[in-house]
Amino acid sequence: MAVERTLSILKPDATRRNLTGKINAKFEEAGLRIVAQKRLHLSEAQAGAFYAVHKERPFYKDLVAFMTSGPVVAQVLEGENAVAKNREIMGATNPANAAPGTIRKEFAESIEANSVHGSDSAENAATEVAFFFSGIEIVG
Ligand code: ADP
Ligand code: MG
Repeated sequence: MAVERTLSILKPDATRRNLTGKINAKFEEAGLRIVAQKRLHLSEAQAGAFYAVHKERPFYKDLVAFMTSGPVVAQVLEGENAVAKNREIMGATNPANAAPGTIRKEFAESIEANSVHGSDSAENAATEVAFFFSGIEIVG
């Protein structure tokens, strides 16, 4: 399996509840390394652009409002099979369906305020990493 990089975001519900360390411990314990990290308060334009793929979905407006409601931590995770591994550690989008031990099962407040974002494919990971980070900011 190849070493990959993927984009992770700790969402406003996680920063508000001071859970960034507890969540990142899950990634590190599973063997993923945080190779870039920054704390940001996204503007409406930035959150809207990041989630543009969901523009037509009924939850888009609410999602952009939620993602701009407080600070986020954007980070790059690196490791074997990082895209799929991150999704596994995160758990299902709806915490009601998330497996025991996953971040969303343990920490998510709702299907919207579900604590973490993770890229869903290698191709989207490359685009999403580049949305937040330049090459010089990623230190493997
Ligand atoms: P994931 O984050 O698991 O990849 P999606 O890409 O489908 O899930 O959705 C992006 C984000 O939009 C979710 O993480 C969640 O914050 C929000 N979301 C998804 N579905 C819903 C929904 N039915 N109602 C409210 N918010 C939703
Ligand atoms: Mg998604």
